[in-house]
Amino acid sequence: MKKITSVCPYCGAGCKLKLVVDGNKIVRAEAAPGATNENQLCLKGYYGWDFLNDTRLLTPRLTQPMIRYEKGGKLQPVSWEEAIRYTAKRLAQIKAEHGPRAIMTTGSSRGTGNETNYVMQKFARAVINTNNVDCCARVCHGPSVAGLQATLGNGAMSNAISDIENSKCLLVFGYNCADSHPIVARRVLKAKQNGAKIIVCDPRKIETARIADQHLQLKNGSNMALVNAFGYVLLEEELYDKEYVARYTEGLEAYREAVKAYAPEAVAHLTGLSAQQIRQAMRTYAAAPSATIMWGMGVTQFGQAVDVVKGLASLALLTGNLGREHVGVGPVRGQNNVQGACDMGVLPDFFPGYQKVTDPQAREKFARAWGIDPAAMDNQTGVRITEVPHLALQGKVKAYYIMGEDPLQTEADLGLVREGFAALDFVVVQDIFMTKTAEVADVLLPATAWGEHGGVFTCADRGFQRFEKAVEPQYDVKRDWEIISLIASEMGYPMHYDSNQQIWDEMRELCPLFYGVTYEKMGDMGHVQWPCPTLDHPGTPYLYHDNRFATPSGKGQLFAAPWRAPAERPDSDYPLVLCTVREVGHYSCRSMTGNCAALQTLADEPGFVQMHPQDAEMLGVRDSQLVWVSSRRGRVISRAEVNERINPGAVYMTYQWWIGACNELTQDNLDPISGTPETKYCAVKVEAI
Ligand code: SF4
Repeated sequence: MKKITSVCPYCGAGCKLKLVVDGNKIVRAEAAPGATNENQLCLKGYYGWDFLNDTRLLTPRLTQPMIRYEKGGKLQPVSWEEAIRYTAKRLAQIKAEHGPRAIMTTGSSRGTGNETNYVMQKFARAVINTNNVDCCARVCHGPSVAGLQATLGNGAMSNAISDIENSKCLLVFGYNCADSHPIVARRVLKAKQNGAKIIVCDPRKIETARIADQHLQLKNGSNMALVNAFGYVLLEEELYDKEYVARYTEGLEAYREAVKAYAPEAVAHLTGLSAQQIRQAMRTYAAAPSATIMWGMGVTQFGQAVDVVKGLASLALLTGNLGREHVGVGPVRGQNNVQGACDMGVLPDFFPGYQKVTDPQAREKFARAWGIDPAAMDNQTGVRITEVPHLALQGKVKAYYIMGEDPLQTEADLGLVREGFAALDFVVVQDIFMTKTAEVADVLLPATAWGEHGGVFTCADRGFQRFEKAVEPQYDVKRDWEIISLIASEMGYPMHYDSNQQIWDEMRELCPLFYGVTYEKMGDMGHVQWPCPTLDHPGTPYLYHDNRFATPSGKGQLFAAPWRAPAERPDSDYPLVLCTVREVGHYSCRSMTGNCAALQTLADEPGFVQMHPQDAEMLGVRDSQLVWVSSRRGRVISRAEVNERINPGAVYMTYQWWIGACNELTQDNLDPISGTPETKYCAVKVEAI
């Protein structure tokens, strides 16, 4: 038996673990002393490796390349040579006939690692010559990246996950950490045990609300109104740090003007909260010697998400809770490597290391390094994944090369997404499982899974961590970056790498932010947080040291915007608000965790709809009864979970199941800046069956 060091492939907490391997089988996982988890794991960490042993519970593993030569035809097994030749030929044809921007690509935010994401964005930019490359950050923390870059200059957590427990006040806003990041939730509990005040802003009585000093059960869709009211109280009661604001921020007067209509008393009808609750929350937050704001999808999956992120960052600026230990802003990223996917430039507006694609000098630098003519580089921001269905229906996007994502399960308004896919000429899916999206692909390219390769992940607190290969793949599969390189070479751009480290070092040379993060340093230290600009730099546990922000002026930007109502409000036909949520036992589209026996046993009920007893009684629905849940876009069957922790007037479902797939119901009202869909709010009705 041997023990292999790895990093959990599920959430952004980045827990280190040891995979215990007997022969070529994994027999168990053990917690390891990682910087974020310190010898603890949640259930997914302990039991989320089982799919590597080919348990085949739900979704078949992709075991060989396949091609569907004609639309409507059957997928046929083919050799790797044929799969690469055919894919390259079709992509080259579409590029020649419709231009580079007719081809869309994705990186992957999970088990594949940073090296592959670097290679995928290089393929899009150097081979296809498009910035059409994106990742699932678009549908989760895209607004955090955009909002924090605008206000503070970096789109990531300011402090370390391990620092959360040292803060003396945690403002937990739209973030159910117990379900989405259980190990982070333990840090929150530890902060409480260390004497921190906990303020939870969430419509539901989530787990963290049980230990909160204050739980603000705001109305669904009122985030901006509440954040503005918080800002109003800080100014009106003079709770803000005047000296800090004067020295390190800009925009106070415009901010004051923007929040003046948001006195807590004036917005009680929007927030559903008393003025006293809002005022008390800010008195607690402002009085704490150190305070941290944490948020999740309850902030970002709205049509007005970037504004709310900017507003939350402004609260930290107003109170001087940045630029030191135990404070800061914490958008805790969802998938295990979504921070890394963004770092590596699988974004339509950034090269690796957050260098803008619209910057001619950056384009010149990358073009020279990649051996192509700078004039061939796309000089416009590319397409975002949430725009693909619309652009496909308009005939502007013709081909979609999807790596390790399942948009036909995870994107809003699946009816629209299916229509968009039907309009595409060519769909390539590179994955480990026969996902919903893989089922409609023209080409299937089977890749190695986490556990069958090594690499580097970035966890939610900007920490780079290496993970190792544990077992040999059992099928005719290849590494993601090897597959991409073969297609690139077949398309006339010679691309070859011998190792992860070779890719990593090429990336480092091009990214000042990450230059000092060598494989050796990660090996020695285990967890290196960017920025790390030089070889002797130890990494950066907290951003904005000395309150120097990464904005053009070096100052933090205060910001507030008027509250906008969600796009679709409840009415007499669809009287309830639907909000999508997570389930602790499974992750994302469930393709990996659904193939793990222990996790599947733990959470095997497909789809629930949580509702308040008052709504259930009015609708004649009993607990555990099957119900129809309908919106203007679709109808799904689900099982009622009647629960007093749910706020009246709203229902909650997970998107992780094929039965009760709530994205059949959600709508794609997009945030105008980040393009993130409003999956936390649409109008539905529930009917007993
Ligand atoms: Fe840690 Fe997240 Fe994995 Fe759980 S799912 S072990 S919290 S990284």
